[in-house]
Amino acid sequence: MALRLLFFLLCQLAGAALGGWQAGFWGALAGAGTAAWLWFAWDLWRGGRVLAWLRQGDLASAPSMRGMWGEAADRARRLLRQQQQLVAASEARLQAILAALQATPNGVLLMDGEGHIEWCNQQAAQHFGLDVQRDRMQSVSNLLRDPAFSAYLAARDYTHDVLLAGRESTPKHPVRLSVQLYPYGDGRRLMLSRDVTQLEQAEAMRRDFVANVSHEIRTPLTVLAGFVETLQTLPLDEPERARYLALMAQQAERMQHLVQDLLTLSRLEGSPAPGLDEWTPVQQLLQRCEREAQALSHLVLPAGAAPQRLHFPDEAAQRAAGQIAGRAPELHSALSNLVSNAVRYTPAGGTITVQWAPLPDGSARFSVRDNGPGIAPEHLPRLTERFYRIDRSRSRDTGGTGLGLAIVKHVLLRHGAQLEIESAPGRGSVFSALFPASRLRPPEPDR
Ligand code: ADP
Repeated sequence: MALRLLFFLLCQLAGAALGGWQAGFWGALAGAGTAAWLWFAWDLWRGGRVLAWLRQGDLASAPSMRGMWGEAADRARRLLRQQQQLVAASEARLQAILAALQATPNGVLLMDGEGHIEWCNQQAAQHFGLDVQRDRMQSVSNLLRDPAFSAYLAARDYTHDVLLAGRESTPKHPVRLSVQLYPYGDGRRLMLSRDVTQLEQAEAMRRDFVANVSHEIRTPLTVLAGFVETLQTLPLDEPERARYLALMAQQAERMQHLVQDLLTLSRLEGSPAPGLDEWTPVQQLLQRCEREAQALSHLVLPAGAAPQRLHFPDEAAQRAAGQIAGRAPELHSALSNLVSNAVRYTPAGGTITVQWAPLPDGSARFSVRDNGPGIAPEHLPRLTERFYRIDRSRSRDTGGTGLGLAIVKHVLLRHGAQLEIESAPGRGSVFSALFPASRLRPPEPDR
């Protein structure tokens, strides 16, 4: 400021000196006045340049000048730069938050005080069939017309969620969404949507499972209770008593099988997949299956009925099958379940053929073929569901629990193997387990 005053005085002095040298006292006065006007005009021009630059607001074209206007321009430029940096940092933070909201598996939708969409992520757009750009500032109540949602919005009680059908929901593939609003700021609302289809399905499965187990246990229990009451109240002779006790033992055994299968399933679900450190000769598994199949075949066929023909690989083929990696009790239970199903569902005189076939890629197929009743195509995808049965009475009569194929599927999955079922009504069935090469190795050499 002082420098500016000094420069102004110097200009006037110079003007006065020049005027005085040319025209004496009056000349000096006129010179000083002219110098003051010239300085004022020059100053005005400099100020004008700064103002023009400020109006334009482009940092890069800031005028470079000295003195007070130069400093003003410099300070304004610095302030502007700081401001720009702050805005850029805020913008980056906002973008990071929006990117995080985009990355969430949940739908996020921000509403203003009037219920217009201010922003929503892709997930929310997908859940509700919205267009992120086109539907911005549109009213949510106009776009989401589900009556349950309209009622929820109108009730203004956001302490709980509301369940809606997703936009892509079809009767075959239902999509269920849990939607909840959270008020924030000045009347704004945050809407979160979550796909709960799997959760709901798991919950429905759990309910079905509990109902099925209760039903399976209740039936033999009712029968048992009836027999107990009969034994307690009726004077029975010895042969009758023995017959009742045998029937009671049968029901108790049925419950035991059921509990055993349930425990096996829960063990399979709760334990890690078996590694490659336990090897079992396939021959051992096949021999055991064969012994059990022979015994079961006698048990399930009525006395005097034509026997079933059971074919297993001969000893040389069984030996050549080598070894398989995994938990022996689980593998046995899977293979023997397939064999015992064939025995139980094939009528008297039928044929059951068990094979172990090595495949060119090193994998191997264990298959059980029967010429029993066969299975209609609509049942095939559901056979491995717990308690799914086609022939309910045959299953019960032969000691089935409805959990056999569910156990087989689990065991095979844990051993990297696949269950394949080929069947047609009247043409028998082939149940195969396809074991990967990584779990097979040649037999140990004879010592
Ligand atoms: P279950 O204890 O009832 O045998 P599974 O899970 O082992 O239960 O089998 C499910 C259903 O699949 C059976 O109830 C039966 O109706 C059908 N099934 C299984 N194996 C055969 C087969 N070899 N031939 C015909 N039906 C079969």
